Parts: sequence; structure tokens; C-alpha cells
Amino acid sequence: MRVIIVGGGIAGLSVAYFLERAMAEGRWRGEILLIERGQRLGGKIVTVREDGFLVEGGPDSFLAARTEGRALIRELGLEMEIIAPQARTVYVLSRGRLMPIPEALLMLRPDPGAVLRARNLSWGGRLRALLEPWIPPRRSDGDEPLATFLRRRFGRAFAEGIAEPLMAGVHAGDPERLSIQALYPHLLAMERKFGSIARGLWNARSARPSGPLFVSLRSGMGALVDRLAASLHRTHIALGRTVLGIAPAPGEGRLSYRVTLDSGEIVEGEGVALAVPAFEAARWVRDLAPSAAARLAEIPFASTAVVTLAFRRDQVRHPLNGSGFLVPRREPFPLTGCTWSSSKWPGRAPEGFVLLRAFLGWAGDPEAIAGEDAILIQRSVEALRPLLGLRGDPVRAWVHRWPAGMPQYTVGHLERLAAIERALSPFPGLRLVGASYGGIGIPDLIRQAREAAERMASFLDSYCSYGG
Ligand SMILES: Cc1cc2nc3c(=O)[nH]c(=O)nc-3n(C[C@H](O)[C@H](O)[C@H](O)COP(=O)(O)OP(=O)(O)OC[C@H]3O[C@@H](n4cnc5c(N)ncnc54)[C@H](O)[C@@H]3O)c2cc1C
Repeated sequence: MRVIIVGGGIAGLSVAYFLERAMAEGRWRGEILLIERGQRLGGKIVTVREDGFLVEGGPDSFLAARTEGRALIRELGLEMEIIAPQARTVYVLSRGRLMPIPEALLMLRPDPGAVLRARNLSWGGRLRALLEPWIPPRRSDGDEPLATFLRRRFGRAFAEGIAEPLMAGVHAGDPERLSIQALYPHLLAMERKFGSIARGLWNARSARPSGPLFVSLRSGMGALVDRLAASLHRTHIALGRTVLGIAPAPGEGRLSYRVTLDSGEIVEGEGVALAVPAFEAARWVRDLAPSAAARLAEIPFASTAVVTLAFRRDQVRHPLNGSGFLVPRREPFPLTGCTWSSSKWPGRAPEGFVLLRAFLGWAGDPEAIAGEDAILIQRSVEALRPLLGLRGDPVRAWVHRWPAGMPQYTVGHLERLAAIERALSPFPGLRLVGASYGGIGIPDLIRQAREAAERMASFLDSYCSYGG
């Protein structure tokens, strides 16, 4: 038996990890081959360490409350590496000025004191947000755009000035198109059960974790990739190989798959886990399951870039007393946000320097990341200059681009996933896993990978017992 995993991002690596574990527990036996196009593992997780700076080109943290992420980190012996943000104030850009968002509002909790302190909202906007507990719930159960949901519950000012930048910003998405059902199902559930988000959060207060929302790793998120890769003893990893296609392999009784590589090699396996973006998977399953391919191709992607800038501390007038700022869509500003990495996390810049992480690009603006690195750097510096009181040029800059890198869970995403699953059901050895499907966050990907590996292991085991 052989399982072929395509893609060496966190999803693909985690599938290998959980398949190895199932093998160690005697739940199946066979080989694992992981094929990665790049010359390195980790996909969007990229940590660069240079001249005392620690730069994250992709994710810089993960949701603390999710057990899947914490469990894997513990198993890999990385628990002592977990760090909490040292600065938690988040600012929002409002008419060209940075305003702090009261902490309760970061959790979407419209506590009266916090709402009244939201200086970026008009008084009318604040009062409307306070009325949330009295807004009747929607009758129908169907999906809805995130923006519509937020406006309906909290009013336009709160939705556009605070909630959307927080909730659509992490997806670089258009809140008018993103699906509340796929991205924030717990809020829909609260509305349904308690009639209001404020009441739902109040009822859930005892279950609320007291620590920070997001945590990171002291030596960067790349440590997770390094440790995960080092833990794989039974997986053969092939770097620098691009998968071109997958076809069913003729055989007697059992279905296996032929995976064609750009080198001309063909590898065959009874199980295939596609841990690549949906648009790649769509091309490969076109002949096997055309309707799955069509639905996969419907999942849109946004292109983003992370521009990390290092300055001497004396070049920056702003105290950088927070973790960074978010940008509502209505602000005429070229960045979607900026993390003050050296304030947020310990050990990101040497003494006397600061590190800023600027985000460009979102679903509505594919051109935002076009142009050479120097252009993106200049655009970021000039946008930040008046806000943060920057003097001169950065002493170092790094650009990480993610063309078609952010899957967009638009309205109907869950229904789309169910249709894909149905169309692929005749191929139980073929599994889709990754950020295009059931969550883009690192813990979500670890959970998806565990589920895919479990199902794959029991399927292969049944194959073995059946086929002998
Ligand atoms: C800028 C940015 C910031 C983010 N911040 C956070 C954060 O703070 N916290 C968080 O939890 N999440 C964050 N995310 C999301 C998270 O990083 C991603 O969802 C996650 O890393 C994706 O993992 P993946 O394994 O699904 O895909 P990827 O990391 O994209 O891996 C897919 C792999 O497949 C390979 N591949 C593709 N095609 C082929 C082929 N034909 N043949 C062989 N190999 C192929 C690619 O080279 C790649 O290595 C962020 C994402 C970005 C872009």
C-alpha cells in the first residue's frame, strides 16, 4: 500500500504525521510519499532569520484556543516555545488617524463601556451597536454575506469600522462576498440559540479562554515545520517535483491512482491526499469527477503580499504601543493592515531596531501586489510614513508575495464542499485537505489533516483485509 501526499505545506506535512502515527499504532501498513514542488517544506509558513531579525513571510501566529494546534505542538515538544503577544492593543485607521479598539470589541463583545469608548464610531453608530441584544434574529437558516450579518446585528458603523476589518481582514476578503456560515458559524449559532451575539457571548463567558487569542513560537512559525518534518521517519519526501496529473490506474479489484510528475516519472498509490490549493486539485480530478472539478474551480483566491520593514528605533516617532493596526475598506489607504512585530512578539528585532509587517492586497484588488519588490516597499513606507512618523528609508526590507494565496470562502462555500465530497465519494482513497476547504488557520489545517489521515488509514486497512 502506498499513500501519495501532494503538497508539503502544513496540511500535507500533518497528513504524513498522522498517517505515520496510525501506522505506529498498527492501523495500516504501507509507504508514504510526499511530493512538494518547491525546494523547501512549509508552503506559506516561511520564517527568515537574518542579522538578528526574525521575519515571518506568512503566518506569524495561531489561534490559542484550538486544541488541534496545541496538541500537535505539545507532541512535537514545542510547548516551551509558545509565546504570548507582549502588546495587545489593536488600532484601527479612521480618517487618517490611528484609534485604539477597546479589547472587548476584538471579541465582538458589545460591552457598553467598550462600545462607548470606540472613538472611531459616531455616537449614532455606538448607540446602534449597543442595541444588538434587541435586534430580532433572522428567520431563515441559509448562508449570508459576512457584511450583511454584521450590519444586521450591529449596524453599519460598527460593522464597517471595527468588525469587518477584524473578521474579513484576516482573509484578505470582501465582506460582501464572504460566507458567515463557513467562517464564523459560532456567531450564527449564537444568534439562533440566544437571539443575539451579546447574549451568546455572555452565556459562553465561563468557557472563554482567559489568555491571548493568538500565540506564536519563539523561534518563529517555521519551527513547527522543521519539527514536524524532523518527526517524519517513515515518509519519503521528494522536493522540487511538480505533480502534473492524476489518473485511475487499471488494476484488478482495487482502485489505485497514477500520479504524473514533471520529471516524467509516474508513481502509483492506493491513497492520494491532495494538500494543494483547490484550483490545482480541480485540474487533476477533471477526468475522474468532472462535477467535483467544476465546484473546486469555483473557489476564488485573493493575492496578497507581506512587506516587512526594519527601522532603527530613532527613525520612528510613534511609540508603537500596540500590536498594530487594521484598515477598514472605506479608508483610502494602500495597505490592509500593519503588524508592529517587534512590539507584538519578543525577539523579533535586535536592540535599537523595530520591525513592521505591512499587508497589501485583498480580494477586490488583484493589482495591489503587482510591480517589483522596490515598488511594494516604497508604497508601504510612504503609506506608513505620516502615520508612524517614519524618517528616512528602512535599514532592511523583505517582500513575500502570495499570488492566489488566500482562498475565499464565499457565500455557499459549505454547500460547495458538500457537493465536492459527494462527487468524490466513489474515490475513497482520494482526499482533499488544505486551506481551500475547512478553515485556513493552522489549527484548522491540522484538524483537517488528522481527519483525512484517519479516514485514509481505515480505508487502506479495509482494502488490505478485503484484498488480502
Ligand atoms: C500572509 C499570510 C498570513 C497568514 N497568517 C496566518 C496566521 O497568522 N495564522 C494562521 O493560522 N494562518 C495564517 N495564514 C493562513 C495559513 O498560513 C495558510 O492557510 C496555511 O499555511 C496553508 O497551508 P496549506 O498546507 O493548506 O497550503 P500551502 O502552505 O499553500 O502548501 C501547499 C503546498 O503545495 C505545493 N504545491 C502546489 N502545487 C503543487 C504541485 N502541482 N505539485 C507539488 N506540490 C505542489 C506548494 O508548493 C506548497 O508548498 C496566513 C496566510 C498568509 C498568506
